[in-house]
Amino acid sequence: MLLEFTQKGIYCEKGNFYIDPSAAVDYALVTHAHSDHARRGSKNYLAHKHTAPVLKLRLGKRSVIQEVEYGQEINIKGIKVTFYPSGHVIGSAQIKVDDGNEVWVVAGDYKLESDNITQQFEHIKCTHFVTESTFAKPNFSWKAQTEIFTEMNDWWARNSSKGVTSVMSAYSLGKSQRILKNIDSSIGKIVVHDSIDETNDIFRKLGFNLPKTYLFSEVSRQDLKNALVITPSFSNLNKFEDKLEGYVMANASGWMQVPWYVSKSLDKGFVISDHADWNGLIKAVKETQAQNIFVVHGFTTYFAKHLNTLGLNAMSITDKKLDQLALL
Ligand SMILES: [Zn+2]
Ligand SMILES: [Zn+2]
Repeated sequence: MLLEFTQKGIYCEKGNFYIDPSAAVDYALVTHAHSDHARRGSKNYLAHKHTAPVLKLRLGKRSVIQEVEYGQEINIKGIKVTFYPSGHVIGSAQIKVDDGNEVWVVAGDYKLESDNITQQFEHIKCTHFVTESTFAKPNFSWKAQTEIFTEMNDWWARNSSKGVTSVMSAYSLGKSQRILKNIDSSIGKIVVHDSIDETNDIFRKLGFNLPKTYLFSEVSRQDLKNALVITPSFSNLNKFEDKLEGYVMANASGWMQVPWYVSKSLDKGFVISDHADWNGLIKAVKETQAQNIFVVHGFTTYFAKHLNTLGLNAMSITDKKLDQLALL
């Protein structure tokens, strides 16, 4: 096979490169900068031009990163490699690897719906498709994002009118920019955690339009009463507690669809995800027309079995499976 699943991740022997390796390697092709896909220590990286600066921020300034555009074909030892949008976060990519015989697409993390800031997912035909399965259970079904942002705006406006700060937890890469782009920024000031600000700064410099945001140090106690605070984790709120008087917390995640994941401390759980839902995953797989489907990251066994019932040749790749492969 053109690509194989190894202990260090997905490997192309002919091109001598890995895709999203879990360890340091000579040449790492990276779908996006989330920590479960982008790891420190590799000698060379290849990433989309909007992912590269975020990778530098996260992996260190000295990282050697070659940049590509979507659709730009790169030749690595005779293997054709092309990055396509995966719609997950700004700069995220599906990676197509083609040796003239097999055409693989490693989708990384993806969602099909346009979120108004991330370049939308493209369906790419291939012979072998590697899909994620984070939300591969039939109960995961996302509403249109306009509906979710109406709910979010209403929640913030209601809190603001009572002088209660709205605190939302969201990943610094992806969810934060999606919220900023789509929220009604006229309701009040938007305060972001430093790590979100660093990432926003990169995207603003790349030309992405985000509303004005403030750091905690830049707002008064009074401003905060009507503000929306976006933070990657509630735990880092402690140091601002002298400034924060009354506040309520919400989480924005696909997991909020599972009732027992909505903790009692939350005022609200917004079901919004940068991963495809059940129907989205099935559509993505079918559109590739791939003869072989490999399911990674998530409900791998469940999803592979379901694809089998649809007559598709699908196989679950779990860490356990990787151990077995390593013994062969
Ligand atoms: Zn991700
Ligand atoms: Zn991931």
